Amino acid sequence: MKKERVLITGGAGFLGSHLSDRFLKEGYHVIAMDNLITGSLDNIEHLMPSPDFEFYHHDVSKFVHVPGDLKYILHFASPASPIDYLKMPIQTLKVGSLGTHNLLGLALAKKARILVASTSEVYGDPLIHPQTEDYWGNVNPVGPRGVYDEAKRFQEAMTMAYHTYHGVETRIVRIFNTYGPRMRLEDGRVLPAFISQALRGEELSVFGEGSQTRSFCYVDDLVEGIYRLLLSDCADPVNVGNPEEITIREFAEEIIRLTDSKSTLSFHPLPKDDPKQRRPDISKAKEVLGWEPKYKRAEGLLPTLEYFKKKVLG
Ligand code: UDP
Repeated sequence: MKKERVLITGGAGFLGSHLSDRFLKEGYHVIAMDNLITGSLDNIEHLMPSPDFEFYHHDVSKFVHVPGDLKYILHFASPASPIDYLKMPIQTLKVGSLGTHNLLGLALAKKARILVASTSEVYGDPLIHPQTEDYWGNVNPVGPRGVYDEAKRFQEAMTMAYHTYHGVETRIVRIFNTYGPRMRLEDGRVLPAFISQALRGEELSVFGEGSQTRSFCYVDDLVEGIYRLLLSDCADPVNVGNPEEITIREFAEEIIRLTDSKSTLSFHPLPKDDPKQRRPDISKAKEVLGWEPKYKRAEGLLPTLEYFKKKVLG
């Protein structure tokens, strides 16, 4: 029997490659599309021999052509770490806006259901805590994070417009900080930075006093939440993340303990507009998807650490 086909943009990235794994496992034919500006073929090398996996090297900000049927589209292409979108501000704006428009058009043409990757950044530096989906956010449009935050906010608006005006089946996931194997070592995010510094015996670079908080979700939990959302009938945005919150300073100390490192902490200026607190309210995901994370941080950090050990220590 012919397999149903799924397009995953950003398919060579951290989340896109894990989603490709999952959809192949679920029996789909997967087309991963990526322009490889932040993604890497290393993340999907193990999938290349599969007859049910194809890779298209393409920038989705340009017209997207995919021959044949598509059942689902998952739009995960975008630079996603603060230093990446500072380096590539225009590409970040384009992939969230023009890229999203192209993929919504493709979904309409193929009668495919589309799920777009939104973010906790739509809440900006949030004034309510934890963040519920009905909070509209506190975003500085012209600050350094504006290129990502506003592109994703536009993405949500455009997605909703295709849903209401064209009747396209759309899903919006608001992803909170996620970690796991295949994160890029040098992407500047706190987890790869701290783990590589701890493994090399360097000081861990804490920004500000480290009193800002984040809540970290293991990638397998996130993929499960996304999979359930795609198959659900919920067109409104849904937070998917782990509500276990920690300060960045405590997180640094946790990484030092876990890696048995002799590293100490060094303190650096807090980047502009760095959110002071972040924790998802996942009541909606629990209710609508029957989903909540299974991995405690200590459990998810083990396979992540193994991955980074190979990268750092060879
Ligand atoms: N951070 C840090 N040291 C680093 C990198 C990041 O203290 O080397 C802090 C950063 O200021 C932020 C938090 O860790 O408060 C999470 O940063 P990340 O870039 O991982 O993602 P964000 O949640 O800010 O998008």
